[in-house]
Amino acid sequence: MTKTALVCGAGGFIGGHLVKRLKSEGFWVQGVDIKEHEHAQTQADEFVVGDLRQQSLVKDVFDQSFDEVYQLAADMGGAGYLFTGDNDANVMHNSMQINLNVLDAVRNKDVKRLFYASSACVYPEKNQKDPDNPNCAEDTVYPAQPDSEYGWEKLFSERLYFAFNRNYGTQCSVARYHNVYGPEGTWMGGKEKVPAAMCRKVAEAESGSDIEVWGDGLQTRSFLYVDDCVEATIRLQRSNFAGPVNIGSEEMISINDLAKMVIGFSGKDLGIKNIPGPEGVRGRNSDNLLIAEKLGWQPRFKLREGMERTFSWVQDALVHKSHPEGLPHESSGMDAGNK
Ligand code: NAD
Repeated sequence: MTKTALVCGAGGFIGGHLVKRLKSEGFWVQGVDIKEHEHAQTQADEFVVGDLRQQSLVKDVFDQSFDEVYQLAADMGGAGYLFTGDNDANVMHNSMQINLNVLDAVRNKDVKRLFYASSACVYPEKNQKDPDNPNCAEDTVYPAQPDSEYGWEKLFSERLYFAFNRNYGTQCSVARYHNVYGPEGTWMGGKEKVPAAMCRKVAEAESGSDIEVWGDGLQTRSFLYVDDCVEATIRLQRSNFAGPVNIGSEEMISINDLAKMVIGFSGKDLGIKNIPGPEGVRGRNSDNLLIAEKLGWQPRFKLREGMERTFSWVQDALVHKSHPEGLPHESSGMDAGNK
């Protein structure tokens, strides 16, 4: 019998890639999002454009039964969206409401497998002050002190999903994603994250100029290519391990070095200008001991390879934006992430 999956947040970056992967495995896929995918045609068999903050819509969506449910919908963005403080109320309220509605809908229903996307932003700020030695092992999350309200909402939601596991027999697994990047993600408009933003800045810059990097650029991060994220997500969903577990890369790099890498792809003569801006924690790196032990998973993509693909896609997206009629889909690099 054909297996069925529901992807909440299917119009988003990771959700879009997840739908493709599930389709390639022969699933019948239902997608839901408040908007359609902005960078690719959805491959979902059915795509509901609707607001998951509305309880009646969520109940309708969950009316049919699914073999696998992926809850990726959230009000989120990059540092410019999450770390200025300006969007805190919306981020917390909107995402919380989605999670409450989803759990209300799955309570006492036969959802065999439910996955919830949490974030590395749950980890305490005090363990991420040294850019060379951040500690994001899963069991360091308490005593809790996330550096953003986004992180607090994720942490509370994790606990809520696990409480439903205990009290209602829900079978939810939870992953903490660390900076996922790749083609077909947000690359402009204010919600973009650092890898795509860096690619855009470099693609737009004239040789001989500087690109702006927030902070002193010595802050560190690791970045996970989206295909690796989807593979790990699916493995966790189908395992008997509930998590919470990191899904990330351990290849840590400073933001200035990330900028230099992208500048290198462009072949342009560009400098880096460090300016004040929202930076988040000083250092963050995934700790993959637990996921290696439980799922035997590790990322396949090196940062350089993933960033080269992402840069090429952002360059094409920029051309497409300037000449919407002129660029045939085949040459747009849109499929670069879908090997
Ligand atoms: P994304 O913003 O591209 O996808 C989230 C989707 O949720 C969007 O398409 C958005 O329209 C949808 N959504 C928001 N509010 C909604 C509503 N009220 N009703 C219906 N849909 C709604 O983000 P992403 O990068 O694909 O992230 C997916 C999940 O992974 C999110 O939960 C995010 O918090 C988590 N996460 C992502 C990263 C990352 O680096 N990308 C890191 C940590 C955690």
